[in-house]
Amino acid sequence: NGAAKGKVVSMPKRTRFANTRSGFDYLIVGAGFAGSVLAERLATGLDKRVLLIDRRPHIAGNAYDHYDDAGILIHRYGPHIFHTNSQQVASYLSRFTKWRPYEHKVLAHVDNQLVPIPINLTTLEKLYGLKLTPEDAAEFLKSKAEPVAEIRTSEDVVVNSVGRELYEKFFRGYTRKQWGLDPSELDKSVTSRVPTRTNTDDRYFGDSFQQMPLHGYTRMFENMLDHPNIKVMLNTDFEEVRHEVQYDKLIYSGPIDEFFDFRFGKLPYRSLKFRHETVDQENFQPVAVVNYPSESVAHTRITEYKHLTGQVNPRTSLTYEFPADDGDPYYPVPRPENAELYRKYQALADATPNVTFAGRLGTYRYYNMDQVVGQALSMYNRIVEAEERDGAI
Ligand code: FAD
Repeated sequence: NGAAKGKVVSMPKRTRFANTRSGFDYLIVGAGFAGSVLAERLATGLDKRVLLIDRRPHIAGNAYDHYDDAGILIHRYGPHIFHTNSQQVASYLSRFTKWRPYEHKVLAHVDNQLVPIPINLTTLEKLYGLKLTPEDAAEFLKSKAEPVAEIRTSEDVVVNSVGRELYEKFFRGYTRKQWGLDPSELDKSVTSRVPTRTNTDDRYFGDSFQQMPLHGYTRMFENMLDHPNIKVMLNTDFEEVRHEVQYDKLIYSGPIDEFFDFRFGKLPYRSLKFRHETVDQENFQPVAVVNYPSESVAHTRITEYKHLTGQVNPRTSLTYEFPADDGDPYYPVPRPENAELYRKYQALADATPNVTFAGRLGTYRYYNMDQVVGQALSMYNRIVEAEERDGAI
């Protein structure tokens, strides 16, 4: 039971709780996908009164986007590309936004040229000066692969499928920068996500639905939260309101270890620093994202947003990403000891009544946006079932 920590309360006066005698059915912490989807569902579907808070000055969590000084729609927390195979998730979000077709493409800066990643037939042709059929490409990769008897680490996964040379060109440096750990120290799940192709398909994702919200994520969230039963408070930390607001149930999409005052220690996260800049040229790079696997530069990738939005502008806006140990929690570090530590917090969470942990930080798992939406919709269904069981509806 966390005592108030004496932080400076930064809420504007008019949002303090003059008027909450009747209280809220739900207090939801975090206005990212997890918190906002649940707020919308509970308000619309079950007519619940919801207070949604976020410690940041905006809604949309890490998917937050806004127009910069040049008028270009940029993503404050790095590029967020929407893709899903779930029809349910796509049609749910389509209630709040129209879409712009966009298939994500990524190039990697390797051997002083830009080549497709995931590695495909074109990548091999460019790197090795070859002319290949898909069969040749498969044969070539087979000749490079170095079978590993027991695949445990991220290094094993890649060396086993494409061999050490391509592993070193594309994965070793990138992973070391991204995670601050050698791939040999990281769970195999990290690099298992990246496929290898023997055709010329250069799309980063293979999902059936690949589109960007037409007017951006923030606008989509605004539409989602535009409901008389939902009150949103920004610049508001859970600690500031947990003893001030009356509510029946809590949904918490912040870091689970923080909720329990780091009782068993801190769950490790990898963070990022972003450098946003606008340059006086119409185009900067041929695709939205270029990866820089070499350890000779500190950034891991550069994003150019106009590829995502289709905007026409004489200038162009970019984001450089620099991985870091400290800062906002972005990526749970997938190592067995961290999973073990999370399980301790999960057991505590299971034993805490009237609190549900949701989202990426609440469940210490790297989820894409569509997975978080899917998770929130399932949580909502379970709440409906429980209310039906209890005879509340
Ligand atoms: P968040 O969006 O992190 O929202 C949680 C919110 O809770 C935050 O706004 C935080 O301020 C607030 N909060 C936390 N603690 C408190 C507290 N104590 N009090 C008040 N508020 C609190 N997914 C994709 O599908 N495609 C991509 O291309 C993609 N790219 C990504 C790139 C980067 C750099 C990162 C970091 C993630 C990316 N993701 C991508 C993942 C995506 O960001 C997440 O799936 C999504 O944001 C998760 O939503 P969430 O609601 O769980 O968490």
